[in-house]
Formats: sequence, structure tokens, C-alpha cells
Amino acid sequence: MISDLLSRSKSTLSFEVFPPKKEDEFQTVFQILDSLAALSPDFISCTYGAGGSKAGKTVEIASYIQHKLNIDAIAHITCVGFKHSDLEQNCARLEEENIRHVLALRGDRPTWMSDEQFQNREFSYASDMVRYLKEHTSLLIAGACYPEKHYEAQTAEQDLANLKKKVDAGVSFLITQLFFDNDIFYRFRERLKQMDITVPVCAGIMPITSSRQLGTSVTLSGSSIPKKLSDIIARYGDDKDDMRKAGIDFAIRQILDLQEHGVDGIHLYTMNRPQTTAEIAAAIR
Ligand code: FAD
Repeated sequence: MISDLLSRSKSTLSFEVFPPKKEDEFQTVFQILDSLAALSPDFISCTYGAGGSKAGKTVEIASYIQHKLNIDAIAHITCVGFKHSDLEQNCARLEEENIRHVLALRGDRPTWMSDEQFQNREFSYASDMVRYLKEHTSLLIAGACYPEKHYEAQTAEQDLANLKKKVDAGVSFLITQLFFDNDIFYRFRERLKQMDITVPVCAGIMPITSSRQLGTSVTLSGSSIPKKLSDIIARYGDDKDDMRKAGIDFAIRQILDLQEHGVDGIHLYTMNRPQTTAEIAAAIR
């Protein structure tokens, strides 16, 4: 069980991958997973398309991780576009494949969803899905959290109060949104303690290996960029190789500092890049 691993004194190392976009790309993702498995992670999670489009693909990838690679798999699942019957179907599929862990997410509003559909969605928040999963399945449930606050929350206090509801509904451990400033994470951890949120927390770390990532994943995450990282991008952003090296070095230093400060786990957003992941794993173990 992943929550048992996370409760030990040694910090865990885990990876996030995304499923293939097209049917004929499964083999490529399986090869990526084979390379990642050689790094002996404690678990691997697989993302899920917001509107439910990649549901099957997520379960198929999670099944490969769990049964072919013999590594604990977490299937992400988002409920924003779900009716109860959709969730039932997805749970049945997870059960068929004997996947035991899910990351229960609300998801972002998909582009196809009208205001009315969004307002009348069956699962308002991730915590509603957590409650359903607790009642109807034996799945072990992880949840997402945001050291810099979720973008919809008015205040960090409200976001934390909502997080408390989610954890109390049955979340066994948390994975954070990516962040680059460890002090923000340490303050967040203190606030969790004050709120009596005591489940293990994995720190989500994304290595920035090209300046283009800032325009996509990072902007979407709403994470702030510390001066140290913006200086690296200003200095090396135009040189592919140097930027890659400097970005990996930044991630390694960030992780070593987190480990020194007793982080429960490091969850690497691999972007399906096994080579970068391998370089980081070698340096932090
Ligand atoms: P929630 O926990 O429901 O929170 C959403 C917002 O609602 C927050 O502002 C919260 O404060 C508020 N809220 C919660 N409960 C209440 C309540 N009872 N009353 C009032 N307000 C409330 N997206 C994908 O599409 N696919 C993925 O695979 C995926 N993986 C992710 C993995 C991680 C580790 C993280 C951090 C995010 C991931 N996301 C993914 C993005 C995620 O779906 C979005 O950030 C989404 O907007 C919020 O999902 P959530 O589960 O955190 O929502």
C-alpha cells in the first residue's frame, strides 16, 4: 500500500506519466515505462483527460505499470464531466484490472461544457467523488493539493478548509501541484499541521529543461518562478543543451533540500522523459 510506504522515515520517489494521445502510441509509452521501471520508483501515476476522453487509456497504462512492471500504479480520475453512472463504469474497469489506487480529482472545466452543465455537474468537487469511492469501492485514494492555492479559491485559508474536507472524506495521502520555491512548500506544510491535516504529502517536482515549458505547463499550474530559476532561463534559455543541464541541476538541488527537510515523498512530473528522470534519480539517491 502506497500510504504505508509514505509513512516510513525514508522519503519515497515516484513518477507521473501521461497516456498516449493516439492508439498506435501505446508501445512508445510502454517503452518509456520500462525505462522508468528500471529506476525502481515506489509508485507511478498516470494522468487522465479532463473530459474523460482518456479514461480507457489511463486504466490500460495503469494496468501495465501494476501487472507487467509490478510497481504500484495510481490511476488519475477526474469527475467534472461525470454522471454517477460514468464513475460506476470507471470503477468497474479499475476493479477488472485490479488497480487499487486512484488520484481523485475534480478536473478543470472542459471546453465542451456549457455554464449550465458546469453549474449542474453531478460531482461538484473532488471530495464528493472521494465520498462516493469510500462508500462504494475499496480503492485507496490520493488527492491533489496546492502549496500556492488553487486558482479558483478566494483565499489560501478557504482552499485549506476545502482540502481538510477532502482529506476527511477519505484521502490517504496528497500530491502537490508543481512548485519551485521550497519555502512556499515548508510554509504550506506548517499550515497543514495547524489544520490537523496529517496524511503524508508528496512534493510534485517538474524539471524545467526548456524555456518553452514556462509557457505551457508552468503557466497553467499558476506556480510562481523564483528569481534563481528565472535567472537560469534568462541565461541559458536559448541554448538547448545548457538549459537542459541547468534545469536538471535546479531540480536536483530542490529535491535534495526537500529531502533534508524530511519530505514524505518526491513525485516527479516526468513529462514522459525517462532520460531526464534517470539523471535526477541518480543524483538524489
Ligand atoms: P478540488 O479539490 O475539488 O478543488 C477545486 C476547487 O474547489 C478549489 O479551489 C477548492 O478550494 C474548491 N473547493 C473544494 N471543495 C469545496 C467545497 N466543498 N466548497 C467550495 N469550494 C470547494 N487534471 C486532469 O485533468 N487530469 C489529471 O490527470 C490531473 N492530474 C493532477 C495531478 C496533480 C498532482 C494535481 C495537483 C493536479 C492535477 N490535475 C489534473 C489538475 C486538477 O484537475 C485541477 O487543478 C482542478 O482544477 C482541481 O482539481 P482538484 O481535485 O484539486 O479539485
